[in-house]
Amino acid sequence: MARLPLEDEFRCLRAAYARGTTVEIQPKQPTAKGPAETFTGDVWFDVIARGQAPSRLRVNLVRFTPGARTAWHSHANGQTLHVVDGRGLAQARGGEIVEIRSGDTVYTPPGEWHWHGAAPDHLMAHLAMWDALAEGEQGPETDWGAHVTDEEYSGRG
Ligand code: MN
Repeated sequence: MARLPLEDEFRCLRAAYARGTTVEIQPKQPTAKGPAETFTGDVWFDVIARGQAPSRLRVNLVRFTPGARTAWHSHANGQTLHVVDGRGLAQARGGEIVEIRSGDTVYTPPGEWHWHGAAPDHLMAHLAMWDALAEGEQGPETDWGAHVTDEEYSGRG
């Protein structure tokens, strides 16, 4: 469907808001840098969704440069990753390093220690989806551990 001229689009949106019947384009937060305490290399993320209670939905789009990765961590309520671009690596503690590619979906259950990141020679972007803590649930929502060493990252750890 052809887009309306911008002015008309705004007029329609205003009318729809007044009726309270529209989907709304959500405000965008600035892209944020993954902090050095919990990431190795350059990692940037955008908050895509942050559900209002009773929803506990959390969705971030996370972009990793080659070799960049999370530190070891676990999620209180598990996490689903969906790779939207590039090639990456993921590993559960005690498991093999798994190559993940655009279109792949990976699930890590509650409390499972793991890391994820880009392949050494490719960018990787994934959607990270999880549930925030329920009311009264014991935290932390994400428990962070040590950085993934170069030896671990290259499978020599
Ligand atoms: Mn994770």
